[in-house]
Amino acid sequence: MGKKQFKTESKRILDLMVNSIYTHKEIFLRELISNASDAIDKLSYRALTDDSVGLNRDDFKITIKLDRDARTLTISDNGIGMTGEELESNLGVIARSGSLQFKNELSEAGTEDIPDIIGQFGVGFYSAFMVAEKVAVLSRAFGSDDAFMWVSTGVDGYTVTKSERDAAGTDIMLLIKQDTEEENYSEFLEEYRIKELIKKYSDYVRWPIVMGDETVNSMTPIWQRPKSEVSDDDCKAFYKETFHDFSDPAGVIRIDAEGTVSYKALLFIPSTAPYNFYTTAFKPGLQLYTNGVMIMDKCADLIPEHFRFVQGVVDSPDVSLNISRELLQHDRQLKVIANNIEKKVKTELKRLLDKERDKYEEFFKSFGIQLKYGIMNDFGMKKDMLSDLLLFWSSRREKMITLDEYVDAMPEDQKYIYYACGDSIAAANGLPQTEPIRDAGFDFLCFTEGVDEFAVQMLGAYKEKSFKSVNDDDLGLESDDEKEKTDELESENKELLDFIVESLGGKISEAKISHRLKTHPVCLTASGPISLDMEKYFKDAPAQGEKIKAQRVLELNAAHPAFEALKQAYVSDRDRAADYAKLLYAQAQLIAGIMPDDPTEMTDLVCSLMK
Ligand code: ADP
Repeated sequence: MGKKQFKTESKRILDLMVNSIYTHKEIFLRELISNASDAIDKLSYRALTDDSVGLNRDDFKITIKLDRDARTLTISDNGIGMTGEELESNLGVIARSGSLQFKNELSEAGTEDIPDIIGQFGVGFYSAFMVAEKVAVLSRAFGSDDAFMWVSTGVDGYTVTKSERDAAGTDIMLLIKQDTEEENYSEFLEEYRIKELIKKYSDYVRWPIVMGDETVNSMTPIWQRPKSEVSDDDCKAFYKETFHDFSDPAGVIRIDAEGTVSYKALLFIPSTAPYNFYTTAFKPGLQLYTNGVMIMDKCADLIPEHFRFVQGVVDSPDVSLNISRELLQHDRQLKVIANNIEKKVKTELKRLLDKERDKYEEFFKSFGIQLKYGIMNDFGMKKDMLSDLLLFWSSRREKMITLDEYVDAMPEDQKYIYYACGDSIAAANGLPQTEPIRDAGFDFLCFTEGVDEFAVQMLGAYKEKSFKSVNDDDLGLESDDEKEKTDELESENKELLDFIVESLGGKISEAKISHRLKTHPVCLTASGPISLDMEKYFKDAPAQGEKIKAQRVLELNAAHPAFEALKQAYVSDRDRAADYAKLLYAQAQLIAGIMPDDPTEMTDLVCSLMK
């Protein structure tokens, strides 16, 4: 019989795949085992209603044989098998099933993208050609007495000839390629290596995978076992081993859902962040299995961005094996699962917060920032889900508290949720601006992360209480009398205040008499929408830095001796007064956690005063 050609486009794809520098050649085994498992599924299903199958559930298995001398690896199953025509139609057209998109992407892709694309899709039978120079498929379909042999060495086509086989089923024989300088193909003839690959990719295949006398796969994954049979310690051990974490997870979530979409999930909330968590190197996502076969290692669509720290496994028979990442995004089933998972994660986090506060605080140290980003993302779409999970340092209680705890403790006459920003708790807590709030007997929150202020701005209010920065011009604490007094002082000292702005040469937009300073001489605030801390935050962002500037306001305490000294110098010695203005500004910068523009000049100035 003459050689038949693959369909033209198949040929090109096959060629690309065989010659690709794809590093995960090893996945061919997963693909072939998964095909074998599907074939057994079909026949075992048939056996339920058809006595002529003549096999019990226990009889089904996948067998793997190695022959190092002949360089062959054979995968056999006693599943449904294929007829001659099926061999032609199934194996004559590459990427036939469900993977139209795969074809398109692969044809359009540059060679360097191929590994990624192959990795994303189930690539099926043809992955055998990544490791084999020749593939022979001997198959006998259930219900037929004839067997056929399909043989191909790759691109140059294939033959199908009549052959023989004892019973229904399929043997896939791979003639493993010779080693090259770059590639060690012989590893696929080593028993330990093949066992390792079975464990890695196919451990949870439902049928036994047998080598010699040994069944290599464990068949029932931990998430498929009944809750009563799996201890917390089992789950933790599984987590550490599978997700390479040294510490126990803070929370474990088990889901066994039945309904429109059935799935099982075993999810973990880590207690510490992987070192690369806040970099682009970290790839979020859950492992996605269908019927015990892993189809994606990091399925990002299963977990919302704000909970991207969650690790775990989802197994659903309702998701198809050869599904692309693009298709997954539109998969309705997957969306249902993802929504459900989001709710469960929220519930578990809340439970930890309420019942295991220490664990939650530990978790929050690593992932609190992620939750705050979550509040800011998508114009605050998730803020209601996330705001009660936040913790901030309470100045008064000297510990981390929730917004609920803050609001619940507010005296009746306190209108706002106050906060102070600083590089550390000590810096925020020590800001001169916080004095009037303390004096009023109110608590305030210390914000130490750049994202904090943005997050509460997105929230706007919590339980109808607005957030207010201690830098805000109106803290809602002053009486009308006090306001009037400040206004008077302001106009009395107008000339001096203008002089200060001038001496600082455009570094500040305003100098004014402060109504909030009590014992300290100066502080730095900002007018307009951008706060000093926002400016700091953007300073580190590439290409943003210089554009986002706060309008600085130097606030002076008119009752402080330093102000008196400035005032006198202004009358008697203008140069000295200008130096004082610079000094006061530098002090205000330091308090705000900002380096003076010219630290050497400042130091010289301070030391000259010691003369
Ligand atoms: P997919 O598995 O995604 O359908 P493959 O290229 O891996 O794509 O396989 C093509 C088809 O060949 C399968 O759908 C199945 O019908 C058939 N097939 C492959 N391997 C076997 C097998 N071991 N037993 C029976 N049929 C098989």
